[in-house]
Amino acid sequence: KSFQEMELYRPLEKRLAELDYTVPTPIQAQTIPAAVEGKDILGCAQTGTGKTAAFALPILDYLGHDAPRAASGRPLVLVLAPTRELAIQIGQSFHTYGKHVRFRQTLVYGGVGQSEQVRSLKKGAHVLIATPGRLIDLMDQGHVQLSDVEILVLDEADRMLDMGFMPAIKKIIAKLPDDRQSLFFSATMPPKIRQLADQLLFNPFEVNV
Ligand code: AMP
Repeated sequence: KSFQEMELYRPLEKRLAELDYTVPTPIQAQTIPAAVEGKDILGCAQTGTGKTAAFALPILDYLGHDAPRAASGRPLVLVLAPTRELAIQIGQSFHTYGKHVRFRQTLVYGGVGQSEQVRSLKKGAHVLIATPGRLIDLMDQGHVQLSDVEILVLDEADRMLDMGFMPAIKKIIAKLPDDRQSLFFSATMPPKIRQLADQLLFNPFEVNV
């Protein structure tokens, strides 16, 4: 499918044209239609494949259509990433792709002071992009409510496992509503990652690139 055939939220489609994104990459061509339909995704993909847009575009499509009704200020979308660098990159992608979509995002990651992140959380955001350790700290202090999350993204799940984030991820996921959509990406699928995916995903659409 081309981006036009995906019939995304119009302002988002316009943005892709502005960015000269004409042809979806293979992971985008497979993931976006399934994710827009609300399916869970199990994506085996490296960086450089267009993976970020593969999850950011269906999320922005959803926010474009549905975000205005969300008045609570609590995040509707939670993206977990292994490192601060990746979290920042993902935030930049949402910012770029979502230029014509009305939404707010907040980033939380370790290695910097908390107070600015807490302040930003208080203002409310549709999308929360986080590294697991800092998110747990903020949750334990009561600064984050995950009860409204409708879409969860795990990006580079295998790296999060390698970095020892599995207990944190499980603790975070336990706080999410059960009837959410989950988008799970990993460059490799070792048994522990498979197990986590099996626990997390309902009848997932599998993509391998
Ligand atoms: P990622 O794998 O998400 O890190 O993306 C790799 C690079 O490809 C990024 O610099 C994106 O801006 C670019 N990119 C992603 N999707 C497309 C597309 N459909 N057309 C052109 N460039 C793209």
